[in-house]
Amino acid sequence: MIAKDLFVRWSKRAALVIGAVLVCSVALIAGLWNDRPDLGDIKWPTHDLLNASTEVVDGTVTVTWFGVTTMLFDDGETQILIDGFISRPTIADILLGRPVESDAAKINYVMNEFRMRQLAAIIPAHSHFDHAMDVGAIANRSYASILGSATTAQIARGAGVPEDQVIVVSSNTEYTFGNFTVTLVNSAHAPFAWRGEVPLAGTIEEPLRTPAPVTSWREGGSYSIVVAHPSGTTLVQGSAGFIEGALRDVQVDVVMLGIGQLESIGRDYAEQYWQEIVTTTGAKRVFAIHFDDFTQPFGTIELMPRILDNFVTMASWLEAFRDTWDTDTRLFLPVFGQPIILYPQESPGA
Ligand SMILES: [Zn+2]
Repeated sequence: MIAKDLFVRWSKRAALVIGAVLVCSVALIAGLWNDRPDLGDIKWPTHDLLNASTEVVDGTVTVTWFGVTTMLFDDGETQILIDGFISRPTIADILLGRPVESDAAKINYVMNEFRMRQLAAIIPAHSHFDHAMDVGAIANRSYASILGSATTAQIARGAGVPEDQVIVVSSNTEYTFGNFTVTLVNSAHAPFAWRGEVPLAGTIEEPLRTPAPVTSWREGGSYSIVVAHPSGTTLVQGSAGFIEGALRDVQVDVVMLGIGQLESIGRDYAEQYWQEIVTTTGAKRVFAIHFDDFTQPFGTIELMPRILDNFVTMASWLEAFRDTWDTDTRLFLPVFGQPIILYPQESPGA
């Protein structure tokens, strides 16, 4: 009888201790997840934005940023979409490996709201879900070609995109859409996984049918995307990786600089990345991209938890690199959903 009483008492104590440890762990993880730097602490300006009073002259190129590295180039005649990430799986979807698929209603709304009616090309920087998840669904709602690696092509095929809209690119080859000429240069993904590996590396060998867990979207090769236009040339670097010397012969006006997880890799690597992407290309304007939490709903721009990636620290490093290597280069923040006037043209009457 005494033994039984003791057993019951100990069991209750053990349950209490385990419960307390669980509650503390959940509170700690929630605390770390919610401890985020404030975007308002970065005092970089926004660039000139298109608004109702802007007189748009032929040849004016705008770019509209939609979070992470999805962005729309537009010269009034032709649109080029970099990436396609609208559906936004939640953190629970990602951690639990739940199968996810493109959110048709959200994509219809976004394409209409942001007037994606002249899409000529959709070009993901690489094939991870936070870049390429919706490229097929968007292509199916337009006449646009999807350009990218053989892996990107399998994402398109899995979504049922007609084969004549799927282009597997060759590095350093020019593709023309209206007045835009696009060149994809072989690059590298940020090596931020365990022991300097690339996360979710590898290729997709068969059409990717969805729903599928986010881990099904494999990197499949990363690109520096050069978007040239008679008005000016922009480089989009979606992931914070580089191949030494790959951009030696590329000169641009503007860099859209992917900095996701760059702070977590370290300052020396970040400085080399800046030199390879910004100093080498001679860019005078740099916009940071991929600094926002990609598990948030489309349209919500929030910085990553401090424990994963600290953009405020990163921003101070970028300012130091600029002051060391490229003193006449200016740093900007994009604003979600607002067209940035990249290359204004003089109005004929001005
Ligand atoms: Zn990636």
